[in-house]
Amino acid sequence: MSEKLQKLEDLVSLCKRRGFIFQSSDIYGGLASCYDYGPLGAELKRNVKNAWWKHTVQMRDDMVGLDCSILMHPMVWKASGHVDKFADLVAECKKCHTRTRADHLADAQGNTTEGAKTAEDLIKKICPKCGTTGQFTEPMPFKLMFETQMGANADDSMTVYLRPETAQGIFANYRNVLDSTRVKVPFGIAQIGKSFRNEVTTKAFIFRTREFEQMEIEFFCKPGTEEQWFEKWKEARMSWYTSYGIRPENLRMREHDKDELAHYAKGCVDIEYLFPFGKGDWQELEGIASRTDYDLRQHQRGMRSVTNWIENGRDAVTTPLKAEDADWAKGPLSYFDEETRERYIPYVIEPSAGADRGTLAFLVDAYTVETLENGEERNVFKFHPSLAPIKAAILPLVKKDRMPEKATNLYNDLKKYFPCFYDEKAAIGRRYRRQDEAGTPYCVVIDGQTNDDNTVTVRNRDTMKQDRINIDQVKSYLREKLDM
Ligand code: ATP
Repeated sequence: MSEKLQKLEDLVSLCKRRGFIFQSSDIYGGLASCYDYGPLGAELKRNVKNAWWKHTVQMRDDMVGLDCSILMHPMVWKASGHVDKFADLVAECKKCHTRTRADHLADAQGNTTEGAKTAEDLIKKICPKCGTTGQFTEPMPFKLMFETQMGANADDSMTVYLRPETAQGIFANYRNVLDSTRVKVPFGIAQIGKSFRNEVTTKAFIFRTREFEQMEIEFFCKPGTEEQWFEKWKEARMSWYTSYGIRPENLRMREHDKDELAHYAKGCVDIEYLFPFGKGDWQELEGIASRTDYDLRQHQRGMRSVTNWIENGRDAVTTPLKAEDADWAKGPLSYFDEETRERYIPYVIEPSAGADRGTLAFLVDAYTVETLENGEERNVFKFHPSLAPIKAAILPLVKKDRMPEKATNLYNDLKKYFPCFYDEKAAIGRRYRRQDEAGTPYCVVIDGQTNDDNTVTVRNRDTMKQDRINIDQVKSYLREKLDM
């Protein structure tokens, strides 16, 4: 019999016990909504990012990578609209003064209101802190960007922001990439990196944190072709999750309603995963937006206004953009198509995923508790082999009869090719259980027969079945099974 994850708390405690994820600053009582990845978690998250990079950059001819700095010129955030508009609407409970995101407040049935804007919308909503119903202030904007000061001298120091998304670094480098590589529209730029948001409500382990990692793509295409690229990216991103083991029944695509869409967006979908929060909750893993040429136009406008902005203050760039102005389409962020001899500002499709949310979904989906025939329970993370932190454990059956020496030699050879683990402590059954909990797909055991005929057993994590093979074939066996 096997069971999936019922309560998030079970995953949280297993992650702590086995060194996947710890609360940040644990020894000082922890820092809310910040988490650290332990030895197994660091490998898992790195594998998630590598799998994303492999499919979005390495295996595609129309994508290139980028790694830009977290701190950027403040003008970037002015032009993108973040300085003025990147805020959540929060309502304060009149009784206990707790502030909550208006769209996260729920009524007795657990219903929230996407796009809640007034106290009227919150009449049936309950304060998550004190339980009072409908006693909220008018929602007000709460700015989400963290600010810091750059520079040692008071007269030349300036306020800069910890980026709230990696996407703007891509737009800011679009011209550099065009000028320094041979990319041609349609093409995309991918980036993985840390982002920071001073979230009002954080929740559910690593699902929503104030420091997190994003995996973002800006895909530039010719205006008029955006619908076809939007469809292609929706398909590519859904199949990425399922090809790395997410069960299709736990994944869905939700189209944004018209009133959820930004005014410039032509379409937006969220890829959602059925997380075990509450009674089971569909939550966003990734957003895919068709953003027109809005961002490049905004930056083109920002570029022209830099001097103006510095001289006249931040409001200098708030003059409305004239979309019909022919000059704009020929500006510094336009693209010249050599084949058709046309100049235009490309349209953009933006698939934007969270590395931590993705990692959480892979953990939840892989978590299994099995009751064995003898009544014993085993916890197993049934990770896709590419995501498993350790690929193979090398275990001498007992600490005698040259078994440890043979196992060590094999381990020293295999670790050049795969992340491996050597373990000679405790009974073999316990060592298997420890590897099951780490999600290790294969355990290789050196036993008494190894001395006689040079064979070892290889145990499969999911079926618990064993193959007996020659010790010299272990590398090729694992290579084939792990597809590495
Ligand atoms: P939400 O509505 O959940 O706040 P969002 O729509 O603001 O998310 P985006 O700005 O579209 O999120 O960011 C893209 C992706 O980055 C999200 O799908 C998510 O995977 C990840 N992400 C965003 N905010 C956080 C956060 N605070 N913690 C962890 N991951 C995040």
